[in-house]
Amino acid sequence: MEQFIGTEREEAKETPQGVGLGALRSGGKRAAGRKGVRFSVLLLLILALAGACLSAYLGAELGRVRNELLLLRQSEPAEPPDEPLPPGGGEEPPAGGPAAGDPSPGEVLPEPERPAYQDLYPELYAQPHEWNSVPEGKTAYLTFDDGPSARTPEVLEILERYGIKGTFFVVNQGTEQSRQWMRDIVAAGHTIGVHSYTHDYETVYSSVEAYLDDFAQMYDEILEATGVAPQIFRFPGGSINAYNGQIYQEIVSEMTRRGFVYYDWNRMTGDAVRRTPSAAVLAKNALSDIRATDRIILLAHDSKRYTNMVAALPDIIEGYQAAGFTLEALTPEVKPIVYAYPNPK
Ligand SMILES: [Zn+2]
Repeated sequence: MEQFIGTEREEAKETPQGVGLGALRSGGKRAAGRKGVRFSVLLLLILALAGACLSAYLGAELGRVRNELLLLRQSEPAEPPDEPLPPGGGEEPPAGGPAAGDPSPGEVLPEPERPAYQDLYPELYAQPHEWNSVPEGKTAYLTFDDGPSARTPEVLEILERYGIKGTFFVVNQGTEQSRQWMRDIVAAGHTIGVHSYTHDYETVYSSVEAYLDDFAQMYDEILEATGVAPQIFRFPGGSINAYNGQIYQEIVSEMTRRGFVYYDWNRMTGDAVRRTPSAAVLAKNALSDIRATDRIILLAHDSKRYTNMVAALPDIIEGYQAAGFTLEALTPEVKPIVYAYPNPK
């Protein structure tokens, strides 16, 4: 084989003139031998060309399969939704899930079924982030829904006084004053998240598309007012409520696919009732049974008439701190507490 290649090389080095002279000087036998060699070279060239074409074709096929795989991956959720977990937890992707490696060449991938709403709001995605991190030590997250409001500056002042950060899930108020309060929240280093644009349960939960419409409006409102693209959200009424039973899983799945993280709560002040209880009762609610857990997400409301919530806030903060909790703002990396757990802890 090596010898054959050597012959091929020698032939290739010969100039056209040299070949011509050589043929004149040689006898018939030698000319026939040379013809045979030239035929072999031609055959080799053809084989080489065919090989090149085949490898180019295979390369293009591999590229096509890779592109299809990429499209498939893009249509998959960024992370499994953090919902009621099956026994054994749901944080790890299932072992039988899609493999990360290349598919074998020629493998036919099925067309994924894409709900049409996945194509709505093509810019509406969270930035890439880690998921489900749990800080060491006891951590409590104060969250304020339904603001901003005339109470926001008071809440901000209290958080500032204690040197702690909180989280505000805001709704649209449609005023320049409310946009300024949103800027104040961001400027003080707290987290701002989407609650709802309309907070109208029947509208928001009439379909996945309607939910996305409402979310996108509030997302834009926050972004325009503060320059910050919100990464986390809280469902109006919590992730499971009387209005979204039929579609909450689909909404959760779509929002999670877009990389957004939602947070329910495992403690609440109980301020959002018609006759708001006294500050002492609100604080007692917030601090109930806190030694039973290392992680607390407290639901409170930032709303003009909830002065008692503001009055209760110092006692709540001091109560958590006395029990050894650090108070932090939520960020998309933080493992959510979701309302769907049968027994939140
Ligand atoms: Zn609300």
